[in-house]
Parts: sequence; C-alpha cells; structure tokens
Amino acid sequence: MRQPITRQGETIIHTVPLIISKPVPGIADLPALGMDANSIVNDFIRYFSHTLGQDKMCLAAYQVYTSLSMSLRDRLVERWKNTQYAYEEQNCKRTYYLSLEFLMGRALGNAMLNLDVDKPTEEALRNLGLMLEEIADQEHDAGLGNGGLGRLAACFLDSCATLQLPVVGYGIRYEYGMFRQKIDNGRQMEEPDHWLRDGNPWEIERPEHTVRVKFGGCTRYYHRDGRLYARWTDSQDVVAVPYDVPIPGYRNGTVNTLRLWSAAATDEFDLSEFNAGSYTEAVAAKNGAENITMVLYPNDASENGKELRLRQQYFLASASLQDVLRNWVNIHGSNFENFAEKNCFQLNDTHPTCAVPELMRLLMDKHFLDWDQAWAITSRTVAYTNHTLLPEALERWPVSMFGRLLPRLLDIIHEINARFLADVAQRWPGDTARQRRMSIIEEGDEAQIRMAYLAVVSSASVNGVAELHSHLLQLHLFHDFYEMWPSKFNNKTNGVTPRRWMAWSNPGLNDLITRTIGDGWVTDLTRLRKLAPHADKAKFRAEWRAVKQANKARLAEMVQRDCSIAFDTEALFDVQVKRIHEYKRQLLNVLHVIHLYDRIKRGDTADWTPRCVLIGGKAAPGYMIAKCIIKLVNSVAKVINEDPAAQGLLKLAFFPDYRVSAMEVICPGTDLSEQISTAGKEASGTGNMKFMMNGALTIGTLDGANIEIREEAGEENFFLFGLTAEEVDATRPNYNPAAIIAADEDLRRVMQLLESGHFNLFEPGIFDPIIHAVTSPHDPWLTAADFRGYIDAQQQVARAYRDQENWTRMSILNTAASGKFSSDRTILDYNRDIWHLSQVPAWPVK
Ligand SMILES: *Cc1c(COP(=O)(O)O)cnc(C)c1O
Repeated sequence: MRQPITRQGETIIHTVPLIISKPVPGIADLPALGMDANSIVNDFIRYFSHTLGQDKMCLAAYQVYTSLSMSLRDRLVERWKNTQYAYEEQNCKRTYYLSLEFLMGRALGNAMLNLDVDKPTEEALRNLGLMLEEIADQEHDAGLGNGGLGRLAACFLDSCATLQLPVVGYGIRYEYGMFRQKIDNGRQMEEPDHWLRDGNPWEIERPEHTVRVKFGGCTRYYHRDGRLYARWTDSQDVVAVPYDVPIPGYRNGTVNTLRLWSAAATDEFDLSEFNAGSYTEAVAAKNGAENITMVLYPNDASENGKELRLRQQYFLASASLQDVLRNWVNIHGSNFENFAEKNCFQLNDTHPTCAVPELMRLLMDKHFLDWDQAWAITSRTVAYTNHTLLPEALERWPVSMFGRLLPRLLDIIHEINARFLADVAQRWPGDTARQRRMSIIEEGDEAQIRMAYLAVVSSASVNGVAELHSHLLQLHLFHDFYEMWPSKFNNKTNGVTPRRWMAWSNPGLNDLITRTIGDGWVTDLTRLRKLAPHADKAKFRAEWRAVKQANKARLAEMVQRDCSIAFDTEALFDVQVKRIHEYKRQLLNVLHVIHLYDRIKRGDTADWTPRCVLIGGKAAPGYMIAKCIIKLVNSVAKVINEDPAAQGLLKLAFFPDYRVSAMEVICPGTDLSEQISTAGKEASGTGNMKFMMNGALTIGTLDGANIEIREEAGEENFFLFGLTAEEVDATRPNYNPAAIIAADEDLRRVMQLLESGHFNLFEPGIFDPIIHAVTSPHDPWLTAADFRGYIDAQQQVARAYRDQENWTRMSILNTAASGKFSSDRTILDYNRDIWHLSQVPAWPVK
C-alpha cells in the first residue's frame, strides 16, 4: 500500500517504504517463464480473461493487444532484473543518455523479435484465430519526439542493449506526444495525441524512486567551518515520478532501461490557504505541477523560447542527475573520487544542458564539494552531441527568465563563464572581440545564455553527426572553440537499428538475405557485403524484385487506405517522408512533379517511366510556409490525379500523419529515396539510411550522411545533383533566381503554371508566399539554383528504372553497402572514443 511520507526538504517525498533488505526466496528463485508458443498463449489467456476481465465472446482488440504485451513484458522483466544484477555485480561504468525526445514507435513487434518469440507467437495467435498484424496495429506509437533526433535516441537504446552496454536513457513521459496530423481540404490540422488513454503495458511506475525538483526561489549563502556554501531556498517544488520502459537487446538476455519522468504536485499544502479554510482551493491550486510533462513541443529544428520548455529541460536534467547521484551515494557514500571514471552523461543536443550547472549545484550544495572538485567531475563526465547548424535552432535563454526560474543555476553559469573567459584572456591576451564572441552570455538589449557554448565549454567531447556536419561545426559555429580545444571535437556519423528497420519491418527481405548469407547480418551489418556477388545472379535478382513488389503492394494498400489514391505497383515509387522544412526542399520535389505533369500535357511522353510520388511529414504548427507546402502538395495532387491525361503515367499523394509505424511500411516499399536538402543544412539524416538498407536508390545532394552513403554505395549506384556546401555559400551573395528561371524553359513553364493559379483556381493567391520564396534573391535554400540538376538527375532515374535488371542490381548493391549505417557501428564509435564502457552480459535466465 502506498503511503505518502514527507521528509522535510529532502528528495524522497511520496514513496513506498522499503521493507525488503535481503532476497525473498519465493521471488529470488522463481522458475523461468517458457518461451514456447504454449506458455505465451497460456499467459495471454490468463491476462485477457482474469487480469483484464474480458469475455470469451467479445474480443476487444485493444485488450487482446494488452494481454499479449503483458505476457511478453513478463519475459522482459525476468531479463531486465538479471541485466541489472549483472551491472551491479560488475560495478561497471555507465552512460546516461539524456534526451528531451525518444521517438520509440511501437514496442510489441520489437519485443517479439528481440526475445526471439516472433515465429511461435504468430503461429499460436493464428491457432486462436487471431491475426498478429491486426493486434499489433492496436498499439499507439510512442511519439515522444519530433523526428530524426528523437528517433536516433530510440535506435541508440536498441544498439546499446544489443551490444550489452550499461546505458540508461533518461527522458520525459509526455502525456501528449507528437500531434496527430489530419488533412482537411488539403491543409494540416493538428489533433492531440493522448497516447496513454488506453493504458501503456510497456511502462512500470517506480514511485519509490520519486525525486523533488525545485523552481523559483533564491540563493542563500551560509558559512560552515570557515567555508562559504550556497543553498537554493524558498522554491516551489514539484516531484518527478519515474516510469521505466524495458529496452531489450537482440536475443542476448539483456534488457536495459529507459526511465521517463512524469511531473506531479508535492503533497504539501499551502498552509496559509489551508488554514484560511480554502481546502478545495488549496488542493486545486496544485495541478500546475502536472503541466510540466503535459505535452511535447512540436518544433523540429527551431527553438521556441517558452518558459514551460525551459521547465521541461531543467526537470529532466535535475530528476535524472538526482537519480544517478542517489544511486552513487547508496553505494559509495559521499566519496566522489571515482565518480568521473564510472559515469558519463551524453547530451542529445543542447536541450538537456541544464545538466551542467545542475551537476555543479548538486555536487557543491548537497554533497559539499568545492568548485574545483565539482568542475573536475562535471567537465570530465559530460559529452555533447550537436544536431544542427541552423541558427534558428540554437537555443538561447534570456538571462532574466532563466534567473527567475533557476536562480541558483544562473549563479553557477555566470561563474563558469567568468572562469572560462579568464582562460580565453590568458590564451589570447587583449583579444576582447574574441572574448565577446565566445562568451556564454550574449550581451545586448536582452542578455541571453547561449546553451551550445555552455555545452561546449563544459564537455569533454563535442561531436557532430556526419563527417560534413562535424567539419562545418569546426569551420563555423564552434570555430573559436575548436582553436582552443581541437581534441574535444569529433564526428559520430548517425546510424539506425537494423532490427526495427530491416529484420522486423521487412520480413520478406529478412528471409531472402538470411537464406543467402546466414543471419549474422542482424548484429553485424557489414556482413551484408556478402550480398554483392549475388547481384550478378539473375535468379537472385528475381527473388529480390519479388520481395520489393510485395512490399510495394503493402505500401500501395496503405496509401489507398490513408490517402484514397491508387498507386500502381509497376510504377516507380518515389518517396520523400520527413519533417516538412524549407531546407529539406519538399518544394523542389513538387516543382519536379509539376514539370512531369507539364510534359504530359505537352505530349512529351515518349519512353515514359510511370511514377508514383509520395510525400509525407508534419509541419510545426506555427511554421506557416511549411503548412503552405503541404497544401501545395495536396492541390497539385488533386489536379494530377483527376486528370485522365496523367492516368498510368503520374500520381502524387500526400501521406498523412507520418510516424515510425508508417515508416516501417514505407521504406521497404520504396524504389527511390529523396534526400534533396540544400547542401550544408541537413546535419546527417537517418531516413536516408533506412531507405538504403531496404534497397531503395537515393537521389540526393552532397549533404549530411548522403555523402557517406554515396561513398559506400559507389557513385554509379547513387543519383547525385546540386551545389556543394561550398558552392552554396559562394552562390548566395549574388544569387539571381529570376535569371535562372528566365534561362530555363522547363522552370519557366513550371513557375508559369504556379503563377497562373492552375492548382488553386478557387483559392486565388494562396501559394503566393511559395512563389515569392522561389523567386527571391534572398532564398536561403537556393531552390531555383538546383532545379536543373535535379530534373536531369530525375531523368536519369527514370531511364535507369526502365532497365529493371540493372535497377535491381543497383538496389542489391545499395543494401550490400549499407553496413556502415547500423547504429551498432555508431554506438561502438561513441563507446571507443567517449564512453569507454565494458560490455557486460546479463545473468542467464535459468
Ligand atoms: C527516420 C525518421 C525521421 C528522420 O527522417 P530524416 O529523413 O532523416 O529527416 C523522422 N521521422 C520519423 C518517423 C522517422 O522514422
């Protein structure tokens, strides 16, 4: 029974008193659960009928899903404990992956695959007359992220568990995840994603690990034994309640932890109000605390500066650090000598950077270390990953807001900055311009904290997420810092997990590859190289093509269901799915589609390659031009799809509510992957990697990880176009799109169609902002500059696709060359260069 207890001013506030201090026989020696179909089905039936109280005549689909999930979760929990026992026994070093986003998607299929019970479970369900696919479809995606950054965190957790690395993910349990996107009259509508409404069988609440997080108040200083100490007082506190999500490794007995924090009110009443007789008001006033973890901010690649967002960031950082330090003190007492050797905090972008001053605060104010001791620990344990060069995404917090909300942390940041600037002054005497450039505090009308600089100054390691991106960081954004500490900077090219993105989502390809080269590729993706020689065998190519055709049929079915548009599986499936952003240039894609339509209308259709173009992605709710691009896609699609002249030649569809579970169907069924960002703007991309693994060919610019994808695949197996990052910078100053349009017959006709209102006859003027963007000499994305190169590359694609034998060859060679882009490789790189963790096998389940 839970009993609220309060320890004045301390971390534990609302908890179950611990009564167990030695192993309880009946619990310690439980026999292992069966992994055969019968055991799982028996448990499933018991959960369904007894735990959930369901009727034999009524199979409520969600309850069927929940029962199956609980049966599998039991098996995860066994391995979870044995993993933690092994970590504790080894007293191993650990890494904590701090991220405001974990875009996990669905857990059921992943658990089945990684526990190695996928085949028996599917069969057993069939015997009960149940279809796995239908059951799995009941699960709400855990959409606790915006896009690539959040999905990267999810892939990393899978790889860490598969590599048996002691890594804990720390994040926020948003009540509402990424909004659901509906399309109404071609326009994006946002609907709240209340993903927890029907319950979540994949989390376990841990009220006994609740911690207290402070906001507001002020700093008080006091003397003890001749030393000055600080204390953060008069704060308004909330509690952070952890919910643990099991992260299974691939068939290795390891289950790691993702710990998600949920905010709740403390059990303390405002006594003055309470005594004044306003009992109900005093209770009601407490609901503000829950706001902190209510909703994910839906901005990708742009900061929004809202105070609630800063609350979320600090809430995550403080709760996670207190959790880690409490575990440390339980074992080591107040001896922090070895702390830096045993712990590492990896910051996923600057979002959790409050962890830097918070760790300093906890070490100094609560554990009484002096500044130098605390700084030695902090600066050796924190590592920072940068995810973007876009200036609008760089987080800055007004000093005034920050000081009001987190006064003690602001003191510490000022002190970090003062000491840092003293070092700069010593290294470059008299160079005040450099000091101003590098200061963590940006002076001006409103002084602001540059969170990226705070992260760089305080970290042992700073990395970008693809070779080009890491290089550009050193060249521009962090140039001064690179001069000061060149050895801090390094690259970790992103990756994605082949378990979810191949083995689970593409069972046909999984079978074919495994029959051909064995199953070792699932945990050593470089083995896909062994597929290359098979590209020359006609029979293998036929099998490869049959798999792709089946996957295209599955994708076409989903497009029919969600877009009401019929895709012909004989056509080239040309796909661009990702967040809608100007730098990603969905607009360039649409201009190409309009160009193809124009050719059809001109009768220029000799040797035509039929094409079905799919575009999908969410726009940030306040990003007007991105929303306008969605409307344009839908308007152009309507005209083309309803025109008999385009029948059998060209289709365009906008896929609504793009999310992880949709991508699991989309990437296996794609022929052509669109990776067409303005060079120098996409840090890495990871969608590009998922497509490549599944045998799509890429049309792309020399941006992010595209460069490395092309290197691996070979230039003859990649459709390259566009300006390089250097050429982009050189072009900007005297960019003249009007001249480009005037000189290019095709582009001129496309712009004329747009300007004539051909796609918006009854909504005049709605696309003016888009027309203006393309024709403006200040267009940062240089859409017109890359049009010709893009159209020509697409023409090569069309020609290549007509030679199906050679296309299939190139498809096989892409998959064969995709080994580098496993997140296992990425994580091994992080571990080799930054974390230095040992691989620790879990205790076996008897
Ligand atoms: C992989 C993925 C992304 C990232 O895609 P990019 O093309 O790299 O921007 C975004 N959202 C979802 C749902 C994904 O699965």
